[in-house]
Amino acid sequence: MFTVEAIDAGHGDCFLIRFIGNGGANRTILIDGGPDKAEAREGNHMPYRDRLLPRLMQLRAASSAPKLKLDLVVCTHIDADHIDGIRLLYQCLSGNGCISADGASIEAPRLWFNSFARIMDGVDIAAAVRDAKAASVADGENLTTFALQAGASINDFAEGSLVAQGHKDTLRLKPATIRVLSPGVKQLTRLKEHWVDTMRDEPQADTSAVSRRWAAADNSVANLSSIAMLIEGGGRKLLMCGDQRGDFILEGLRDLALSKDKEIFHVDLMTVPHHGSDANNLPKFHQAVTADTYIFSANGKHQNPDIATLQLIASQAATGRKFTMAFTQPDFDYTKSNKGDLPKFAGTDIRTLQEAIAALKTLPGVADNVTFRFRDEGANAIEFAFAPNS
Ligand SMILES: [Zn+2]
Repeated sequence: MFTVEAIDAGHGDCFLIRFIGNGGANRTILIDGGPDKAEAREGNHMPYRDRLLPRLMQLRAASSAPKLKLDLVVCTHIDADHIDGIRLLYQCLSGNGCISADGASIEAPRLWFNSFARIMDGVDIAAAVRDAKAASVADGENLTTFALQAGASINDFAEGSLVAQGHKDTLRLKPATIRVLSPGVKQLTRLKEHWVDTMRDEPQADTSAVSRRWAAADNSVANLSSIAMLIEGGGRKLLMCGDQRGDFILEGLRDLALSKDKEIFHVDLMTVPHHGSDANNLPKFHQAVTADTYIFSANGKHQNPDIATLQLIASQAATGRKFTMAFTQPDFDYTKSNKGDLPKFAGTDIRTLQEAIAALKTLPGVADNVTFRFRDEGANAIEFAFAPNS
């Protein structure tokens, strides 16, 4: 039913989802475009130019159509590690300069993107735009301009306003259904009220969190504005989390009555929220939502994925449940992170992803029940295929 490619976007996100639509047409969804530049052990690269665009050109060459159609492009939020590749794509499509001339053989008529201006509609944003986040805000306004110049509709499905749960939140690309889980309308109202303040301040610790280890829940307004989606079809479920917080995604599942209290919501694939940061992966989310495949799109920057998140998920193998933990990088150095001390597992420093995996395998059930997968060195992406299940 679905093929999911987690494109190598360094510390950022870039996902391609393909399936055959009713009538036999190829359908393609692009979620985020990665940062402008990314570091990797194999050498630094530009995710859009060196990974995403070549892959899109391959797909175009493999079809008989003169242009490759992206049926839906989603920019989950304004942070550079998600928006840059999407902005470059629409810059090219709008005729404002292409990284590669081939980029013009793509069409992307439908964009979902909640820009700062749209979220802040009616609020004086001058103070916020002076803030350090001004670059991201400007990226967002540029994306909006380029997409409109390229003739794309923005949030058409939400009647030109915001893509949010609580508005019209289901799009059908038959036989697939795409449901927006977050941000919720209530959440957006809170974000609107607090954006200017929180942009000036360091994130505040969430004192309601269950323990000190999970105390620093993510309060970044940009992250919390992330569009998170459930994509369903053929009896398969894909949970695309962006940089949203797991507990808010769970709230979305509950608000849409997709998941009930005390029930486990199971999906075929989950992109682990916010590159595996422990601030977005609270235990109550992973207790309530499980996956056969967990994708970590990260390269050790900001120490993502956090060891606590890896451990939280891997430890579920103790129940005998079998699942896959997949990584967009074959390996990386935690030593290059700017976060300070090295991450630790049972008191021992962890220097690389492979050291972390070796440590996880000492946990009960992990060696027997967890399959670890990594993007092959030199490959554009790590790919997952899900045949129809119903
Ligand atoms: Zn991110």
